[in-house]
Amino acid sequence: MRIVDIIEKKRDGGELSREEIEELILGYVKEQVPDYQVAAFLMAVVFRGMTDRETAILTDVMMHSGDTVDLSPLAGIKVDKHSTGGVGDTTTLIVAPLVAACGGTVAKMSGRGLGHTGGTLDKLESIPGVNIEQLLDRFMDIVRENGLAVIGQSGNLVPADKKLYALRDVTATIGSTPLIASSVMSKKLAAGADAIVLDVKVGSGAFMHTVDDARRLASLMVHIGAHLGRRVEAIITDMNQPLGLAVGNALEVQEAVNVLSGRVPENEPLVEVSLLLGAHMLMLSDIVATEAEGKEKLLQALRSGAGLEKLRRMIKAMGGDPSYIDAEKIQELCAVRKMVEVYPLQDGYLSGLVAEKIGVASQMLGAGRAKKEDRIDPAVGLIMHKRVGDAVSVREPFCTLYVNDDIHLEEAIDLLHESMTISPKKPEPSPLVYAIVKE
Ligand code: URA
Ligand code: CA
Repeated sequence: MRIVDIIEKKRDGGELSREEIEELILGYVKEQVPDYQVAAFLMAVVFRGMTDRETAILTDVMMHSGDTVDLSPLAGIKVDKHSTGGVGDTTTLIVAPLVAACGGTVAKMSGRGLGHTGGTLDKLESIPGVNIEQLLDRFMDIVRENGLAVIGQSGNLVPADKKLYALRDVTATIGSTPLIASSVMSKKLAAGADAIVLDVKVGSGAFMHTVDDARRLASLMVHIGAHLGRRVEAIITDMNQPLGLAVGNALEVQEAVNVLSGRVPENEPLVEVSLLLGAHMLMLSDIVATEAEGKEKLLQALRSGAGLEKLRRMIKAMGGDPSYIDAEKIQELCAVRKMVEVYPLQDGYLSGLVAEKIGVASQMLGAGRAKKEDRIDPAVGLIMHKRVGDAVSVREPFCTLYVNDDIHLEEAIDLLHESMTISPKKPEPSPLVYAIVKE
């Protein structure tokens, strides 16, 4: 079988067989197929798409391109969650401890921030001492003892995705539903959980810009999961503005600790999405029967402090200093050289925000990486004071920047101004949750 024939078949809209997909993907991982042929193939997929069957096969082949994690030594249903990338989205640090406090088993492998989106590993590492690289046996011990652990992906998990994602990133081929679905699901499935709740983001800060596109991606991922024998559900949530108010690393851990300490109103979007994700994780774990029952159980774990205690224990088990998991103490991790207030340029109502620009502004302050090798400054980022629909005034700060290095400060402020649309009329509220997708 010649690789060029496989590319040609996809270019002309054909459906590839398992053998053809294996030839291409496994050949690429073994460095027998060059980048340029795979780049041509990826672009053909962008234009021609893939059938659901092809996408499920691609996912399966990618998932088995390296090691897979066997969580079967752990009793019961192991549940995971995944967000397709957001800004100010600290749900993992809230929902994993809460689900564990309700009797769930959360064995999660997380990623680093990509571009303007934050990553849970980077947030965890802002706590002194935390080691996100744990050996598999130790990872399982932590889960066994505490009901949860969130660590980095081990060395050789889905090497096909590492290579493909890096190539897609520089060939304008990220934006393809089957490529995103297979990338996300190959990693989730390889990490071994029995049940997975996906949070598919839609809006200016997300990969998917319309609800229809998000729904298509969500159903595809749920279908792939079911096809490969796992319980998968997806919720589709808004990413037209940051989910929480904090965007950064220590700042987002602080926000999670504030939520788990009962300091954030229970109707804030970050809390609402966390409770919804958690309720579905508990349902897939056979711990509760309904969403309402799940939310109630999670709220009890929040109000009693049981969730916060789970987070503290996990941090300790991962080598971190647990004293920081405290609403007063954690402020020390957010200490910066200066804080800068950003004011709106006119009075009116905040009628729109571009979450991506806010994420990039935070990245420019040093909270994210422009290149993989860049170092993150854990303390920097920003705190939003306004949400879409709020009245704004030129005399009232719209957000506060946490700054250590001024080098891109002016650019970051310009971006924040660009991210805002201000209008004279109060806008109609937009939904936070658009849909729940099941097989
Ligand atoms: N996240 C991933 O892991 N892969 C994609 O392709 C897009 C988002
Ligand atoms: Ca946040």
